[in-house]
Amino acid sequence: MSTPAPGPSRAAGPATADGPATADGPATADRPTTAPGPAPATPARPATPEQASFLAELIGDGLLLETGVQGVYGHGEAFEDVREHLENLICATAAAHGARRLRFPPVLPRRQLEDSGYLTSFPHLTGSVCAFHGSEADAQLQDQVASRHEDWSEFQRLTDLALMPAACYPVYPAIAARGRLALGGVCVDTGGAWVFRREPSEDPARRQIFHMHELVRIGEPEVVLAWRDEWAQRGLALLIGLGLEVELDTANDPFFGRRGRMLAANQREQALKLELLVTIAGPAPTAVASFNHHQDHFGKAYGLELAQGGVAHTSCLGFGHERIVLALLRAHGLDPTGWPSAVRDRLWPS
Ligand code: ZN
Repeated sequence: MSTPAPGPSRAAGPATADGPATADGPATADRPTTAPGPAPATPARPATPEQASFLAELIGDGLLLETGVQGVYGHGEAFEDVREHLENLICATAAAHGARRLRFPPVLPRRQLEDSGYLTSFPHLTGSVCAFHGSEADAQLQDQVASRHEDWSEFQRLTDLALMPAACYPVYPAIAARGRLALGGVCVDTGGAWVFRREPSEDPARRQIFHMHELVRIGEPEVVLAWRDEWAQRGLALLIGLGLEVELDTANDPFFGRRGRMLAANQREQALKLELLVTIAGPAPTAVASFNHHQDHFGKAYGLELAQGGVAHTSCLGFGHERIVLALLRAHGLDPTGWPSAVRDRLWPS
């Protein structure tokens, strides 16, 4: 960011949500609610008729399994088979271009979230982990209240964990802990990691929890930016190779509030975020991958130091596994065994 926004974070600029998000952001960005009670605090974004009928088909065919919560689904065998093979394809492409695998669990130390600037930029999307704190009598009361499906949050306290907001977040402190970078920096593949966004929706492509497959590049400024731009083209080619109609465009993250609108405009103006867009169930296209340049934001936040001194720059990219699988099902039909052989050969190489 050329004009860093002030904030409570040690970092110089806004964090990035980095994940696939539709260009218009979440429906709830400016409407946080403090209403207590057991009802969902965030109203669900309604589906378009096309999205609603696509979701009904996916559930009817056993591709997605309902849980009773909007934006939280199980995967049937056929859906998961496609997702796993998509993950393999992305991992193989990343490895061929020098990425090294790191894997992390779907919870983030709360301290890392606090240092990252995420709570400044995306308080509305954050999920924190709470746990019981109290006496035996409190436990009994909690159980009574919970058995009536009423609000039992008074018996809970924040723990030292948060739900993972983006797959790249644990990578920065892990690489910083190794000490000064080697010349040329590093490239990391996180694999398909579960990430959480508090964004209930009736659109099957907008989930609260999903697999984000990130690649992270940390190194010299010009190396990192060139890598981001190369991968935007490589990602475009990968999805076109799967028979999808894809468009590459500049985008912005769904930053929170009035200040967030300024950050979003700045991000778009500097082309810090690029997205690959596919129309799944319309009318609007959905972002299925994003390519994010953070400049020195995470380098400063976590003390990432270049081989010859100075703050490292970072970029990351994220493929949204579920959104890409949905796009494939929409484009080629709900039965993957009947997909065009050119597509099947790429996903299921012999
Ligand atoms: Zn990221």
